[in-house]
This record gives sequence, C-alpha cells and structure tokens, in this order.
Amino acid sequence: MFDLAGKIAVVTGGSRGIGRATSIALAEAGALVLINYRSNEDAAKHTLGLIEQAGGQAELLRFDVADPESVDRGLKEAIERHGRIDILVNNAGISIDQLLLRVSPKDLDLTWATNVNGPIYCAKACIRPMMKKRWGRIINLSSVVAESGNPGQVVYASSKAALLGLTRTLALEYASRGITVNAVAPGFIETDMTADLPDAGKQGIIDQTPLGRIGRPEEVAAAVVFLASEEASYITGQVVRVNGGMHV
Ligand code: NAD
Repeated sequence: MFDLAGKIAVVTGGSRGIGRATSIALAEAGALVLINYRSNEDAAKHTLGLIEQAGGQAELLRFDVADPESVDRGLKEAIERHGRIDILVNNAGISIDQLLLRVSPKDLDLTWATNVNGPIYCAKACIRPMMKKRWGRIINLSSVVAESGNPGQVVYASSKAALLGLTRTLALEYASRGITVNAVAPGFIETDMTADLPDAGKQGIIDQTPLGRIGRPEEVAAAVVFLASEEASYITGQVVRVNGGMHV
C-alpha cells in the first residue's frame, strides 16, 4: 500500500509487541528495518526471521534507549553503516504502575529515562543526517492515558504526556528541514505489556471501548507506516489515536 523502498528505519524495542508488528509492517512496505533491542536477543532474532521469511530486509541493532552513551554508540554505528536513518520509531517503553503514594524515585527515574529521555536521545542521534537529506520521519509511541489520565498510572501517563510535548516541539523545530514528527497514541493493545491484567480488568476496558474489543499490534503498526510514508508528508505535530474510540 505505502512504498518505503530505499528507506532506512529504526524501531526501538522492536523485538516484540507493537515494536515487532511495526518492524514487520515497515519491512513489508519496503524499508530496511533496524530492529533495536536491549537484552532479548532471541525475541529480536525471531522478529528478524519473520521479516526475512516474508522477503523483507532487516538487521538487529542493540542498544539501551535509557542510556545516552549506548544510544549514541548504537545509532552512530548504524548511521556509519547506512549513511543515515530516514525513519525513527520511538516505540520502546515501560510501564510501572502504582498509585502516587507508592511511587518510588527509582521507578520514576527508570520510566522517564526509558519513555522520555530515550526518545530524545534517539531523535538527537538521528536528526543531523535527516536534516542533511531534508527528509525524515520521527514517530513517537505515546498512549491514550497521556490524554485521558488513568488512576494507578501517574508515572507512565505523565511520561507519555511528556512525549506529546516532545512531538509538538520537534515538529516545530524541524518542519523547515522536511522532517515530520508525530505521535501515535494506542488504547489497550494485546501485548506482553498488557498480558498481566486480570480478565475482569480487560473486560472493564472492553466495556469502555466503543469498538467493543482490545486492539491488535498490527492496527497500531498500520498508523506508524502511514505516518512514515510520503502520503503523510503534510502531517506533523499530530497525535494519531488508535484506541477503538476509548477516548475521543
Ligand atoms: P512491550 O512491553 O511488549 O514492548 C516494549 C519493548 O520495549 C520491549 O521489547 C522491551 O524490551 C523494549 N524496551 C524497554 N526498555 C527498553 C530499553 N531501555 N531499551 C531498548 N528497548 C527497551 O510493550 P508494547 O505493548 O509493545 O508497547 C510498545 C509501546 O507502545 C510502548 O511505548 C508502550 O508504552 C506503548 N503503548 C502500549 C499500549 C498497549 O496497550 N500495549 C498502549 C499504549 C501505548
């Protein structure tokens, strides 16, 4: 549908869940996908295998988004190898859920290091080659809770709301260089991140979702591919909500 042939894409946290579906979808559209992972090499290799079996192109790229030196090293190597990164998908994220009174500095720091600082470091590492090419796409995975709020997710929701400020600001900073920056805000999607929720909780979410079901990673990946495409060239600083109508 969308043609990304000749584009080099990085998907952080690309080994499973939404990151895996996004890596597969970008590769199906013709991009060479650098599947970032931090520690789960087996899962990353599985994603790589799925892409290769389908005739797509991908490579593994190890770094920890929460560690600025690791990000710089990983992305510098990738840029030296391929000359540039055209599409950066800031997908890696963690969720440590608790009420305000139980929030610890450690959980807060780790969440922000991963969910907010990570996307900033990754964007910083990719932006110069994008500016040189006068073409780039940065897509940040936020969440429905960034806009709706959710009891028990003060740390996660605030980090995902910060990503929206980051998205809008980078969109304004780099629009004149042909770089678009957008966010995708999923609702409740069936992945490892949401697997532990008890059935009653899942049913509660389904009841609050007008489309009456939980979302699939592929449905989020489709929005990312569109935003990465030439067809989305006049869209920047926006939030695409893939949430079944949960928050409108
Ligand atoms: P997931 O937990 O299945 O996958 C997240 C990936 O990020 C994993 O591969 C993990 O290893 C990786 N990761 C975590 N910390 C990392 C680090 N420091 N460096 C590199 N990689 C790291 O989660 P998912 O459900 O696929 O979510 C993907 C993104 O979508 C996340 O940003 C998440 O917050 C967001 N999101 C998910 C949902 C949902 O319902 N699943 C809803 C809204 C937003």
